[in-house]
Amino acid sequence: MADWPYNTAQWKRLRLLKLGADPMCEPCVDAGRITLANTVDHVVPVSTGGPAFPSLDGLTSMCASCHSQKTARGVEAGAVRTTRKLQPRKGCDANGNPLDPAHPWAGKSLRAAPLKTDSPLNPQLVSRRRG
Ligand SMILES: [Zn+2]
Repeated sequence: MADWPYNTAQWKRLRLLKLGADPMCEPCVDAGRITLANTVDHVVPVSTGGPAFPSLDGLTSMCASCHSQKTARGVEAGAVRTTRKLQPRKGCDANGNPLDPAHPWAGKSLRAAPLKTDSPLNPQLVSRRRG
């Protein structure tokens, strides 16, 4: 059985209310992915003094993958209480930009170089050769 506040009827109602209001994983939506949320996360963890039953703004709908990545990086993993460096946020958004704002490429637009017209990989040249 989960510990307080997750074992209370009040939390179960609040969790369902949040998932009804924001059914998609919010970090996934920010990254351009559409993933159903199944976990409700406290923006300010209860373990650091955050409210156990905050308003919906104080909660984040997440998929299991995003939630486990967040808890592995955050205070739930004890990162703040130790001198261990915070783990960087993994992955990139739909444009290929890193999700971690501390990444050296963050904020820089990453675009693939345009295919040269005389490249053997150019699909127009390939179809012409076949014809
Ligand atoms: Zn997600």
